[in-house]
Amino acid sequence: MGHIINGKQLSAEVLQQVAADVAALKAELGVTLGLAVVLVGDDPASQVYVRNKVRQAGEAGIRSIEHRLPADTSQATLNALVDSLNHDPKVHGILVQLPLPDHLDEDDIIAAINPDKDVDGFHPLNVGALAAAQPGLVPCTPLGCMIMLQQAHGNLSGKHAVVIGRSNIVGKPMAALLLQASCTVTIAHSRTRDIAAVCRDADILVAAVGRPELVKADWIKPGATVIDVGINAIERDGKRKLVGDVDFVDVAPVAGAITPVPGGVGPMTIACLMKNTVTAARKQLSDIQPAVAVGQS
Ligand code: NAD
Repeated sequence: MGHIINGKQLSAEVLQQVAADVAALKAELGVTLGLAVVLVGDDPASQVYVRNKVRQAGEAGIRSIEHRLPADTSQATLNALVDSLNHDPKVHGILVQLPLPDHLDEDDIIAAINPDKDVDGFHPLNVGALAAAQPGLVPCTPLGCMIMLQQAHGNLSGKHAVVIGRSNIVGKPMAALLLQASCTVTIAHSRTRDIAAVCRDADILVAAVGRPELVKADWIKPGATVIDVGINAIERDGKRKLVGDVDFVDVAPVAGAITPVPGGVGPMTIACLMKNTVTAARKQLSDIQPAVAVGQS
């Protein structure tokens, strides 16, 4: 049975460091960090995510400012809100919960966010910075996966990492981070031929697909580290249940280390949102007060 990577415990450690950083910024500069969370419409999953983010922010000492807008909000109204948050010095991070209702243009809204406040790391400038290995804000889910991998492995250099999924929010930034850590990176996706064989060559396998329990034991090199990003709601034995993209019961005996669902990548994602809020605030505060030493961790 492989080692189970405890996302709950690791995320609590990340949040503890965030809380210490938030308190230090308050003590040194008298600044309370602010995170604006924008939710348009009433998608039930988004409401749960937003509630969790607001709660975690509070626990870390970050003031969250919630903006709930009706589902029929116009592009102009949402853009105007983002613009006001961009200019609000009390707001250090802006998160627009996705997906947006169909009539709104997500790319346009993401591009309207000040890249220095873009705590989701989705703005094209942050995407480019990651691709070019320059400083910027990195998407929370892949950032959380990297923290887990570094804890499980230490040095990742030279390992073969296979990422299943090529979305802008998980698969692609995950691959970029693994490349930065000097892994040999393969991206597999819906058109990949003989995906089981591709995955079987992986020392590190990251599954970000959105297909319940797709990854089976015969996709895994014995001893490999398996990070399961998927969150899929299924019905089993008449009960609603959350499962990952990896068949945990099948894969855990073969893997060297594996993340569970729930309690794996999910809590790390939220912890990294708070970490990104600190990163964003430090950059903004050092831009305003370059003479003041703003600590880095
Ligand atoms: P997405 O739908 O945008 O992308 C899925 C990717 O999987 C696509 O690139 C597609 O090519 C690939 N794919 C689809 N079917 C495939 C198949 N049969 N074989 C191989 N590849 C296939 O999804 P996403 O936004 O990247 O999210 C992926 C999963 O991660 C979802 O379950 C989502 O709920 C979950 N997620 C979890 C967190 C978290 O915090 N844990 C955060 C974001 C997303």
